Amino acid sequence: MCLIPQDESAKKKSRVEGRRPPPLDIRSYKFHRKLGEGSGGKVMLASFAPKKQLVAIKIVPKKPNRCNYPWISMEAWLSKIARECPFLCHSHATFQSKAQAFFVLEYAGGGTLYRMISRKKNLPTKSIQFYTAEMVVALQFLHSNGIIHRDLKPDNILVDNDGHIKICDFGIAAAGMFAGWKIRGLAGTPGYRAPEMLSLEAYDAGADWWSLGVIMYEMATGRKPFVPSLDPAKEFLDMKLTKVDYPSHMSQEMLDLLPKLLEMDNNNRLGVNGNIREHQFFAGINWSELEKRTTQTPFKPKIQPADKLKEIKPGFCAETSEENKLEDFTYVDYNWNWQE
Ligand code: ATP
Repeated sequence: MCLIPQDESAKKKSRVEGRRPPPLDIRSYKFHRKLGEGSGGKVMLASFAPKKQLVAIKIVPKKPNRCNYPWISMEAWLSKIARECPFLCHSHATFQSKAQAFFVLEYAGGGTLYRMISRKKNLPTKSIQFYTAEMVVALQFLHSNGIIHRDLKPDNILVDNDGHIKICDFGIAAAGMFAGWKIRGLAGTPGYRAPEMLSLEAYDAGADWWSLGVIMYEMATGRKPFVPSLDPAKEFLDMKLTKVDYPSHMSQEMLDLLPKLLEMDNNNRLGVNGNIREHQFFAGINWSELEKRTTQTPFKPKIQPADKLKEIKPGFCAETSEENKLEDFTYVDYNWNWQE
């Protein structure tokens, strides 16, 4: 269906699309506002009209030479698997038009960790402990399934409607990374990339534990431990020369944990070497309660109901076609009670 003025052929196609089940039909969604935009595409706040349920729809333009298809497929595959972990952002449905791939994602209404850090500068230790523990659960889930995230950063860490963490953006994740496997190739975002990645060595899940250390440091101080650079060699050199400044307001437990994550030698890094859950910083965390999402969250965002939000025209053409089709992309999560 075209959400911009239609010609006759598009109208004809709309009638064919009428047979699609509601979760896979773009006309079932009302669009409200833009939530964010990245290199992959834009993310809109929308509602699934039959249930007035808020969702986030990621709209990814298909590149003419299909060069972003592997990225789209990785994101689709992982956002399905994500439903098995309470702290990963999963998709309710995925479908496509001739020009775009649509990801209907669970909506995380508490904003990003990036926004929280920008506003508060340094978060209370209790909140850092809580958010980091939920990220630990998510990373251990990914790693035990042979997946490394590779782009962990505060913009990709969302807070959901109950105040829990949801890690999103899986496009550049690497799969098949079971124990002993390593991968090469620069990925991720300046400031969050592990030294072994910057020096173009082979790396493993240890790269995610490094990024977690950077994010924890940022939550505690409002700044990054190392100077980011678009030039990986420069960033690596700076890292080697920098003596990380640990402010005195940090708790003893955090002062002990951070250097173990920001450890230059991947083999000695906590997460790769030793179980991070056993570190004193997490004393007081009941991991089984945490995994059940019954632990009290630092804050609960106020979410406006769908019928209080104004509707906007998203301004894209969602005409379908057999051309440029992504194989095995269409999906509805069997746990999504879209009919009730
Ligand atoms: P990148 O350039 O980092 O790869 P991307 O194009 O892959 O970005 P995402 O990182 O998935 O896009 O999303 C961009 C932004 O959209 C996020 O930083 C966040 O602000 C918002 N966003 C994404 N998913 C959701 C969601 N499920 N709920 C609420 N906001 C979201």
